[in-house]
Order: sequence, then C-alpha cells, then structure tokens
Amino acid sequence: MPRALITGGAGFLGSHLCELFLDRGHEVICMDNLITGSTANIQHLFGRNGFTFVKYDVTNFVHCEGPLDYVLHFASPASPIDYLEKPIQTLKVGSLGTHKTLGLAKDKKARYLLASTSEVYGDPLVHPQKEDYWGNVNPVGPRGVYDEAKRFAEAMTMAYHRFHHVDTRIVRIFNTYGERMRVNDGRVVPAFISQALRNEPMTVFGDGSQTRSFCYVSDLVEGIYRLLMSNETTPVNIGNPSEMTVLQFAEEIKRLTGTKAPIEFRPLPEDDPKIRRPDITKAKKLLGWEPKVPLEVGLQRTIDYFRKVLLD
Ligand code: UDP
Repeated sequence: MPRALITGGAGFLGSHLCELFLDRGHEVICMDNLITGSTANIQHLFGRNGFTFVKYDVTNFVHCEGPLDYVLHFASPASPIDYLEKPIQTLKVGSLGTHKTLGLAKDKKARYLLASTSEVYGDPLVHPQKEDYWGNVNPVGPRGVYDEAKRFAEAMTMAYHRFHHVDTRIVRIFNTYGERMRVNDGRVVPAFISQALRNEPMTVFGDGSQTRSFCYVSDLVEGIYRLLMSNETTPVNIGNPSEMTVLQFAEEIKRLTGTKAPIEFRPLPEDDPKIRRPDITKAKKLLGWEPKVPLEVGLQRTIDYFRKVLLD
C-alpha cells in the first residue's frame, strides 16, 4: 500500500483528499493542528483501514515513523477572514511548514505536492490567469500574509526540487466549494448559502461586479490526484474557468434556495481581486483533466449539506 501524509487533512480540501487517497488504495496519515480544520470533517474516516489522524502543528519539526511515498502540504488558513485573524500562523505554515514538510519528503524520498493558490496572482492584470503570469501582489496589504507565504512556499518547493532533487509538484488552486466548508469561514459560498437558508440579508461586497470562477470539490481533488501522478514539476492551475460576478452568484444562490433574503451591499475588502479565472490549458493538455460538475449540481449538493449543518 502506498503511504501518503496529508497536512491540513482535517480541513475542507484536506478531508476530501484523505477520502480520495483511501478510496484509491493508499494508507493515509492525516495531520492537522485543528485551528481551522475539524475532526468532524474526518469522523467518517476513522474506522477505515489505513487511516490515521495526528494532531500536530507542522511549523515544528515533523517526525513520521516508517516509509512515505507522498507528502501533500495542504495545511493553512485559507479564507480571507481566517488569514486576517491568524496572520502569523498563516505566514508560518506557508513558510516554516513548507520547509519542514519538504525536509520530511527529502528524508523519506517521497514525492511532494504543495497546495498553492490563485492568490499568487494577486489582483491580476492579466486575464484569464496562466501559469506564466507572475502576479500583482501587495506584500504589505492584509492579504499579503497569505499571498506572500504561498509565493515563498512555491520558491522553497522549487529550491528543494532544483537543489535537493526532491520530486515536487505545485498546484495553484482557484476558488473551490462543496461539502465541509465551514459555515462561518467568511468565504462567499458558505456566507451566501447560510444567509439564504436563514433568510438573512445576503452580503455582497462592493458593487458585486468583481468576478470569481467556482470549482466543485470532487473535480478539484481529481485534478490534484492526476497532477501528483504526472511528471509535471512546474505549477499547474486547477479550477473551473466558468466565471461570473459576485452579484450573479448571489442571484444564483437566491434562485437555487428559493430564499426571500434581500441582497445588501457592504464595503469591498482591501485588495479584493477584481477578476479571477483560471486558464486551464496546461491541465487539460498534461493531465487530460477538466471540470465535469456543473455549478448548479455542485451548489445543490452544497446547499443540502449546509441545510443539515444549520439544523444541528
Ligand atoms: N464576498 C462577498 N460577500 C461575502 C463574502 C465574500 O461579496 O459575504 C466576495 C468577496 O469580496 C470576493 C468574492 O466574494 O470578491 C470571493 O470571496 P471569498 O472570500 O470567497 O474568497 P476570495 O476569492 O476573495 O479569496
């Protein structure tokens, strides 16, 4: 059985990855310090053959008994509100955490995959975003703690690849949604769905003309798995290129939930990117991957999930 260590394994994406790896015959060590992750996300995995959970902060030296074939570094606060509230932890897990997990991969001769982000493109001046765009990031703005930590993490990963010959992969993840997002993480998907289900005002930031492109989680983890199993060592965008404005997105949630909630406009957060859409030509060509789940189908599943969570 191949053995994978997944940091941030009790988070939204991490928990879906743990599940996919178990389904595909891997042993999984899920590591998480639970500051934004939750054991509720992995409860259903505890009884499964080959699954282990370790509560640990990966900014410290990471020790792992036995061989490892894969190390996937997914630990990080990932919503703008989380990294505004936890700026130092965000910087540390992206820098120190990447260093420690790369060191572990080197020691175990394991293949390494870094979870990077569309935030490395900042408030982009090129549209859609291709992997060869270097980005437009404000290093000293409130989002800088996440953006720069991930940019440093990419640089560190490439340095371990070039200097220590660690077999590395970098995925740049665009907006993703689905079951197990936290109701209160502040991101637009849980915010709008929970507001709609409670018939509370739906808070559109700015005039809602900024765009995002939303990918359903099952499509995303499939793309990540294919990237890990490929030979591509340069960054690859994984996301859904179907783009819409935040206001259109609010209208779509209104339609799907049938809510009577009004839309209310709030100030646009500082440095909020005005446009975002992945160019996925590289993933299509190299991995034969593209998203399959239509927005309406993915949102319906996510709405059903939030309905249950809000009832508890
Ligand atoms: N947004 C919004 N209302 C909310 C939360 C977010 O209008 O209650 C907007 C936010 O300003 C941004 C977009 O939705 O333009 C996506 O925000 P999110 O926090 O999900 O992640 P981001 O893509 O900015 O990292």
